[in-house]
Amino acid sequence: MPRCVDPFFQPVSGLDLPRFAGVPSFMRLPHVPLDHPRLAEVELGIIGVPWDAGTTNRPGPRHGPRQLRDYSTMIRTHHPANGLNPFATANTADLGDVPVNPADIQDTMDRITSFFRQVLDQNILPVAAGGDHLVSLPVLRALATDGPVGMIHFDAHTDLFHSYFGGNLYTHGTPFRRAIEEGLLVPERVIQIGIRGTMYDDEDIRFGRDCGVTIITVDELFERGIGDVMAEARKRVGDQPTYCSFDIDFIDPAFAPGTGTPEIGGPNSWQAQQAVRGLAGVNLIGADLVEVSPPFDPGGGTAWLGISLLFEIVCVLATRIAGRRKPA
Ligand code: MN
Ligand code: MN
Repeated sequence: MPRCVDPFFQPVSGLDLPRFAGVPSFMRLPHVPLDHPRLAEVELGIIGVPWDAGTTNRPGPRHGPRQLRDYSTMIRTHHPANGLNPFATANTADLGDVPVNPADIQDTMDRITSFFRQVLDQNILPVAAGGDHLVSLPVLRALATDGPVGMIHFDAHTDLFHSYFGGNLYTHGTPFRRAIEEGLLVPERVIQIGIRGTMYDDEDIRFGRDCGVTIITVDELFERGIGDVMAEARKRVGDQPTYCSFDIDFIDPAFAPGTGTPEIGGPNSWQAQQAVRGLAGVNLIGADLVEVSPPFDPGGGTAWLGISLLFEIVCVLATRIAGRRKPA
C-alpha cells in the first residue's frame, strides 16, 4: 500500500463526525508533533506560527493559526475543479505550532528557523500558517541552507522596505529586503504580484527593481490577466527551488477584511484561486499563508478564505510530492 493512503494520515470525515465536533487540527488531519514516532512518514506538514511581533499597525495574526484550524474543519478532501484528493496523494499532517516567544523577536525567529530545519531534516515539505509576514524570513533561513531560492509572492505590498521607526530592521514590511541581503533569495527569480495601495515613497519598489525583482502591480495583473502573469511567474522561477508566500491582503478587503494592512482594488476570491492554481508545475520547496487577523475578522470569512487558499496550495504541493516520488 502506498504511504499516501495510510488511514492514519486521512482527515476525519464530516460524514463520520460532524465538522463542528472534535478537536480542530488543520483540515482535520492527525496532529504529529516533532517528537511523534510517525513523524518520518509525513511528506507534507502544515505548521502554525502564532506570532505577530513584526506588525506595524493593526495586530492580531498571532491568533491566525487557531482560527484557521477551526475554519479548516469545513475543508473536504477533493479539489472542486480537478478532483484531486491531496490527502490520498501525499501523507499530510498538522505538525503543531512553533513554540514562539512573544516577548522576543530575535529569539522567536531562531525558534522558527530551528523548527523548520527539524521538519526539513525529515524530508517534509513545510507549509506555514501565520502569523504576520515577518514569519517568512526565518522560514526562508531554514529553507535556503543549500543556496538562495526563488519566490512567487502574492501581496498588496512588496515587504521590501529597509526599516521602520528609525532603523528597526525586523517588521512585516521588511522580510524580503532582509532575505535578499542575507542571500536567501535570488532576486532575478523573485516575482511579486498584486502590489498596490498608497505609499510612503517608492524606495521599496526601486530597491526591488534595481536588484532584479519582478514587481507586478495589480493594474498590470488585471490588464494582462492572471493566466498570463502566472505564466511569466513560472518562467521567472524556472525549474529551480522556489518558495511561495501568500499574504491574505493580496485579496480585496471586500473578501478579506480581517487583516492588518488592507488595500482596496484587489483580486476577488475566485481570482485568488486561479492565481494559486497557476503554481502547478513549479518546483516548490515550501509555502506560507500569512496575515489573517481574527480580531479584525468577526464573521470568520477571512479565515475561511485563507484556509481555502491553503487547501489550494496543499493540492499543488501534494501533486509535486507525488511527481517527485515517481522514478525518473
Ligand atoms: Mn506582506
Ligand atoms: Mn501585505
